[in-house]
Amino acid sequence: VEAKQTRQHFFSFDAELEGRIRRRRLLEQALPRVIHARQLHLAYQPIIASSTGALLGAEVLCRWHHDELGPVPPDEFIPLAEQLGLIGALGSLVIQRAAQQCAEWRAHQPDLCLSVNLSPLQFRQPSLCSELLQAVQAWQLPPAALELEITESVLMENADEIETNLRQLLAAGFPLAIDDFGTGYCSLAYLPRLHVSNLKLDRSFIRELESNPVTTAIVRSVIGLAHEIGMQITAEGVETEVQRDWLIAAGCQRLQGYLFSQPLPAEAFATRFLGKR
Ligand code: C2E
Ligand code: MG
Ligand code: MG
Ligand code: MG
Repeated sequence: VEAKQTRQHFFSFDAELEGRIRRRRLLEQALPRVIHARQLHLAYQPIIASSTGALLGAEVLCRWHHDELGPVPPDEFIPLAEQLGLIGALGSLVIQRAAQQCAEWRAHQPDLCLSVNLSPLQFRQPSLCSELLQAVQAWQLPPAALELEITESVLMENADEIETNLRQLLAAGFPLAIDDFGTGYCSLAYLPRLHVSNLKLDRSFIRELESNPVTTAIVRSVIGLAHEIGMQITAEGVETEVQRDWLIAAGCQRLQGYLFSQPLPAEAFATRFLGKR
């Protein structure tokens, strides 16, 4: 009996592994084409000012709908693009579309800001800053219109290309945000030196606000520290009114999460948040 169970176990394991390998092959084959044909889409999730409830802007999130497999999550295709050497091309596409969209929406809300996610690999490309400048200049946007989200790991790495890029981006006037803050190794003591204007508190902290007093204390002190050194705080993954109210009371300036909206296609975002018809 035991042998048979073991064998069945292996069979199902093989089937699962085979499924995963097949899926990866399909994605690997399709991704270069899809990027080349610019068939990726962007979704926009609103970022809200906690004091007034007003719209500040949106985070730009990349979307891929595969003909056969349906929607592929970015947590799957972004790493794949990185492995296949396609993240530069994907990133360019996102930057250009975001700049165009931001310019269009600024006709309705002049101070609207879009936040773009950048892969650590994009930070190793010497052309990053000039590419971003070209994109904003093409649409007569100030660099302040595009906030750049980077992960803690980028800031903690000690590479010359990265430091040069950071210096150029800051000098050009692009606002920087640390994404998923609290999940990496960024020491609080480093924060003042990094010249980052915005901390995005990872949603794992927000999720535990109601249940874990230690998390509550950590979030409260990070918000306090950010205030003292003049940084903005954005809470990610706000899903409940209790979380929202706690964050407002604690002094968190910006809120983002399903409570306000899921990421939306451009038209739906404009209709709902910019009053466009
Ligand atoms: P991220 O930058 O931390 O983006 C936030 C993620 O949290 C998004 O997932 C968003 O849909 C999700 N989210 C927002 N509010 C809530 C909430 O209230 N509850 C829950 N459970 N989730 C919420 P998404 O769109 O699947 O993106 C996943 C990650 O993929 C992003 O994490 C980002 O790291 C990466 N990504 C997405 N688009 C791009 C891109 O254009 N370039 C790069 N380099 N990475 C991207
Ligand atoms: Mg992000
Ligand atoms: Mg995040
Ligand atoms: Mg993330």
